[in-house]
Amino acid sequence: MPTIENHIRDGEEALPRDELAALQLARLRDVVARVANVPFYREAFALRGITPKSMRSLDDLRRLPFTTKDDLRRHHPLGFLTVPRDQLARIHGSSGTTGKPTFVAYTAKDLTLWSDLCARFLVAGGLKSQHTVHVAFGYGLFTGGFGLHYGIEKVGAAIVPAASGNTRRQIEIIQDLGAEVLVCTPSYALTIAETARELGIDPRSLPLKYAHFGAEPWTEEMRQEIESQMDLLAFNNYGLSEVIGPGVSGECAMRDGMHLQEDHFLVECLDPDTLEPMPDGEEGELVITALTKEAMPLLRYRTRDIARLDRSPCACGRTTARMSRVTGRTDDMLIIRGVNVFPSQIEEALLRVEGTTPHYMIEVERPATLDQLTVRVEVMPELLSDRMDRMQHLRDRIGKEILTVAGIRATVELVAPRTLERFTGKAKRVNDKRGKQG
Ligand code: ADP
Ligand code: ZN
Repeated sequence: MPTIENHIRDGEEALPRDELAALQLARLRDVVARVANVPFYREAFALRGITPKSMRSLDDLRRLPFTTKDDLRRHHPLGFLTVPRDQLARIHGSSGTTGKPTFVAYTAKDLTLWSDLCARFLVAGGLKSQHTVHVAFGYGLFTGGFGLHYGIEKVGAAIVPAASGNTRRQIEIIQDLGAEVLVCTPSYALTIAETARELGIDPRSLPLKYAHFGAEPWTEEMRQEIESQMDLLAFNNYGLSEVIGPGVSGECAMRDGMHLQEDHFLVECLDPDTLEPMPDGEEGELVITALTKEAMPLLRYRTRDIARLDRSPCACGRTTARMSRVTGRTDDMLIIRGVNVFPSQIEEALLRVEGTTPHYMIEVERPATLDQLTVRVEVMPELLSDRMDRMQHLRDRIGKEILTVAGIRATVELVAPRTLERFTGKAKRVNDKRGKQG
């Protein structure tokens, strides 16, 4: 397995906490002043008596209004701009995982900030100017491709903007150009590894040493799976278009949580129902305020992403808080027979059982009055041809793990290798048919 040295790109990542807090407060006042010309915020400020001066401490953040995806939709397409249209340099959109895409806008300065933030986590994850980076994220309205692209450029590494699709060709390009670094979704990395094997290429023999994965939830079990299949070190990074895109947080060499770029974002972790702060270490919804963005800084944006915060010091020397993996989104949480289940729990359970592959689909139905959960998982080829009692045993083991991890009984279907859908971008592994049935 490759190794990396600990490297910090910018001094602001390691500011003493009191200096960081002072910087955040100054920036909070500044952004409150700047968004006051957005009708949505102007009205909320008037109701609550909010002025920049009334932000006396960082605790005053809690007086500010939340911003939701629905608010963005209600002010479609660009009702949250704080600058005139002619100052815009780029417009992106969310991928529309949960409905109609929403647009986000950047000034030239925002684009510089964005590439700096991506450069930080890339450097934290071992990127050096002498590297060649294969970017297999889609280039388009989706923020992943362009965000990472310009971050890599900032670091000075060579970019191969392969974009998504045609996996065989991608493997050829990785081999021909000797890329040491891979950027894509974790699910696409699995597709690359599998396609390589089909071509008779051992994915471990590819030149890749490091990978930066993001844009979708994945588990620690998935990391181990990809790392052992491809012989590389995989780093997690997180972001969302409404806040800036990738670059909100990313892992350092310790790989024990993603450092939040707190000099530019104020991050809260709240109970999604009561909206009260969760104690550190407990799961809640991340709510993020962009402090320094120019074109469209959102206040207290409700990400719907569930994670935990850790403010304990990190051995890498950065002083910023870390967030855990995203364990799910409030909007992809399934309520099955009254039990809350996140797809990531199913993934964790599946990958604990030997003989299965990381390719699975989750289906929920309600044929009569009771919800039914079916988990389809591809098994290793050697197992499928095996005896019936062994298959039954495997099914039972998977069912038990799901019950342990997610607290719910599932019907497990073992299916042949390569029968489930493969993904080039964000994976869609849940099919909830309940709303669509009578
Ligand atoms: P959409 O909401 O349409 O998917 P984005 O393209 O902006 O729009 O995607 C952002 C979302 O992707 C985040 O809110 C989060 O749910 C998910 N995401 C991004 N990075 C990660 C990550 N490292 N781990 C888990 N989820 C992630
Ligand atoms: Zn660290």
